[in-house]
Amino acid sequence: MDIETLSEKILTGDRRALSRAITLIESSRADHRDQAVQLIERLKDAQRQAIRVGLSGTPGVGKSTFIESFGKMLTGQGLRVAVLAVDPSSARSGGSILGDKTRMEELSRDPNAFIRPSPAQSHLGGVARRTREAVTVCEAAGFDVVLIETVGVGQSETVVAEMSDLFILLIAPAGGDELQGVKRGIMEIADIILINKADGDLKPAATRTCSDYAGALRLLRKRPQDPADFPKAMMVSALERDGLQKAWDEMTALTNWRRENGHFDARREAQARYWFQQEVRQGLMAQLDTPEARARMQDFAERVAAGDITPTVAAQELLQGLRG
Ligand code: GDP
Repeated sequence: MDIETLSEKILTGDRRALSRAITLIESSRADHRDQAVQLIERLKDAQRQAIRVGLSGTPGVGKSTFIESFGKMLTGQGLRVAVLAVDPSSARSGGSILGDKTRMEELSRDPNAFIRPSPAQSHLGGVARRTREAVTVCEAAGFDVVLIETVGVGQSETVVAEMSDLFILLIAPAGGDELQGVKRGIMEIADIILINKADGDLKPAATRTCSDYAGALRLLRKRPQDPADFPKAMMVSALERDGLQKAWDEMTALTNWRRENGHFDARREAQARYWFQQEVRQGLMAQLDTPEARARMQDFAERVAAGDITPTVAAQELLQGLRG
């Protein structure tokens, strides 16, 4: 199928075309990459916008249960929902924590939902690019909500936050002072912290945890671009499908507020700049990763070590060589 036909099919919301496009995006073959770049170029003019929701939480916190319940609630309201994942564990070991489709059995059978596991790439930068491009394709295909899931490993939360309009952190009810275990950085990027499993025997612990987080969030520096009551902590039960509508209401309220005040577009612009810089960095690194560049590097390193040339001059000459 040529790129023009593929992009037209995607614009009609054709799911098979969407799957094919993402397969193309994930391929490391040079001709596929060229086609993927052409496709993204075509689709970017579609001018369709989904709400991109980043969702993070450690394994076992209930991410798949939440996405299944939350996704079904949204499709029940006539919204189309895409689920993508950034899973650095699959990049490293080939084994994915988030990849298994059967985790969201009901949602994966829903005609208004599209679930795509994390690509198995060799590095997080590669996964990030593929996921970012998959988001663009899903938006062009007319999805209203794109959920981007990640486990809190390494830099994956930053990567997801940089491609999301909203960032949601899922937390399990804690016993004692577990709050200290949550990195401050992640609290700073979260827009809403959802304490999951607020049901049955866990309800009292969830209530305590929620008020602990609410307290901790109040101590964070206020964000001028957000209403005063954000970021906020709330309780949900993904299993009993409780609190999900309220969570969605908060997400849409925050999104609408940011839209009305210009912060929504400003964030997407800042993200575009960020990814441009990342692509430049990755491109430069890739230039250093060829056999010739490595050999030259080795050669210069020997001369630097022998004292024939200073590190500064050696680096300048090497970089000039790359440009020429
Ligand atoms: P993930 O690893 O973050 O995707 O977590 P899962 O969705 O696989 O859930 C891990 C375990 O927590 C499973 O046994 C779920 O049934 C359970 N779980 C998930 N959500 C809830 C909830 O709201 N309440 C309770 N009680 N258990 C839950």
